[in-house]
Amino acid sequence: MTGKSVYVAGHRGMVGSALVRRLARENVKIITVDRREVDLCNQAAVFEWFARVRPQVVFLAAAKVGGIVANDTLRAEFIYDNITIAANVIQAAQQSGAEKLMLLGSSCIYPKLAPQPLREDSVLTGPLEPTNEPYAIAKIAGIKMAEAYRSQYGSDFISVMPTNLYGPGDNYHPEYSHVVAALIRRFHEAKLAGSKSVVVWGTGTPRREFLYVDDMADACVHLMKTYSGAELINIGTGEDITIAELALMVAAAIGFGGEISFDTSRPDGTPRKLLDVQRLSGLGWRATTSLEDGIRLAYRAYRADSDAVAA
Ligand code: GDP
Repeated sequence: MTGKSVYVAGHRGMVGSALVRRLARENVKIITVDRREVDLCNQAAVFEWFARVRPQVVFLAAAKVGGIVANDTLRAEFIYDNITIAANVIQAAQQSGAEKLMLLGSSCIYPKLAPQPLREDSVLTGPLEPTNEPYAIAKIAGIKMAEAYRSQYGSDFISVMPTNLYGPGDNYHPEYSHVVAALIRRFHEAKLAGSKSVVVWGTGTPRREFLYVDDMADACVHLMKTYSGAELINIGTGEDITIAELALMVAAAIGFGGEISFDTSRPDGTPRKLLDVQRLSGLGWRATTSLEDGIRLAYRAYRADSDAVAA
C-alpha cells in the first residue's frame, strides 16, 4: 500500500472515518469524496469519478446501516442502497484498474442458527435472521461479486466480516441506532434527568460480541497489507457478553446508579452472534481495546459531540 492512492468509500461513517484516522499513520495518499459530489448509488457518477481519479486501493466502507429496528423497518432502502453501492463501486474499481479492494461485510450474513462461534464457511448454509435479511442479502451479493471478480478477472478483491462495532462517529438515533450507542445515550440522558430507571430492549439474554471501531480500522489496514485470497475473514474479539451484562457495563461507565428493566415487546434478534476469529489471528492480528475502555472512549466522544451541538 506504501505510496499508493487509497480511496475510502464512506469516509463520513463510523468505520470510514476510523479508517481515515488509521490511514493517516501510513505513507499513502488518502482520497475521499463527498456524497454531494458523487452519490455512490448513482452508477454514472461513480463510473465517471473512478475513471478520472483511478484510486489504486479501495476500502468499500460505504453502506446504509442501522440497528435492529432500522433494518426491519427500512427493508427496501437497506437492500436497494447496499446492493447498488456495492455493485457500482466494485465494477468501477475493476474497470478503472484498481489493484486491490476490500469489501466490508457484516456478521449478519451468517445463518441465524449457524454453529457458534461463526466460521467463515457457514455463509449460505441456512436461513438468515429475518430482521436484517435485506441488509445481509445485499452484503452477501457484495461478497459474491468480490469472489466472482477474483475468479473471472483476477482482481485482488477481498472481503472482511466485522462483528458489531461501536465507537466515535456512531449513530445515536433513539430508534435506529445499534445497542451500544442506544444505551450510551439512554443512560446518559437518564443520569442528566435524574431518572431512577432505564429500559433496555428485549429479554437481555441475547449474546453479542463488540469491537471498538479503531481496532476494526487497524485490522482492515493489516489485512489490506497482508492478505490476498477468496476466503472471507472475520474481524472480532472472539468474546461475547449478554445484553444485560452490556447494560450494566454502560451504566457503570456513565455513572448511572438506578434500575434497569427489560421491554420484552422489543425484538431480541438473533440469539447469539460470536465470530470465530481463528483465521484472523492466524494472519497475525488481535483486538487490543477492552470493552470497558472502548465504552469509556465512545462515551467521551459522544459527550464531546453533544456538547459541540449544544454550544
Ligand atoms: P443486532 O446485533 O443486529 O441485533 O443489532 P442491535 O445492536 O440493534 O441489537 C443488539 C441486541 O441489543 C438486540 O438483542 C436488541 O434487542 C438489544 N437491545 C437492547 N436495547 C437496545 C436498544 O436500545 N437499541 C438497540 N438497537 N438494541 C437494543
